[in-house]
Amino acid sequence: MNKKGHVLNAVLLSIGLGYLLEPATELSHVPATLETMVMIAVPVTLGALFPDVDTAFGKHRKTLHNLAVLGAFVAYPFVFGNLEFVWIGILTHYALDVAGSKRGIALFYPLSSKEYGLPTGVAVSSRYATIVTLVVTAAELTLAAAIVFELPQWGFELGRQAMGL
Ligand SMILES: [Zn+2]
Repeated sequence: MNKKGHVLNAVLLSIGLGYLLEPATELSHVPATLETMVMIAVPVTLGALFPDVDTAFGKHRKTLHNLAVLGAFVAYPFVFGNLEFVWIGILTHYALDVAGSKRGIALFYPLSSKEYGLPTGVAVSSRYATIVTLVVTAAELTLAAAIVFELPQWGFELGRQAMGL
């Protein structure tokens, strides 16, 4: 996917995530929701632009398109106390390259150079690229909504059963 696709995906995803995390159930809550969207959108969009730096440094779709790089960005906030949310941008970049573009990415690089992609992908220059980007974004938000709304429920149930209640 090209930069336009990655930015579109990151911004829409951030708006959706901001709403999921801080839903504006009444008018007075709208500023807090908007603030959460902005707080998420900047690091996520920067993260979504990062993997393609490997077009200039290293091997494209390999050097900065693998699970080790994602792991480093997930760990970074825990170790250094900053760069929260950037990993979401990295992850959504991978998701869009894997599901939305014809050529996959080398998830296990540098262990393996094999590139993994889904048959749903289209050529970067395809006129369907934007549609595919929107479909992938919608799928991501559906998954995020399921995690935000369903997971606490499952966790609650599991905890209840574990305590024998
Ligand atoms: Zn990429």
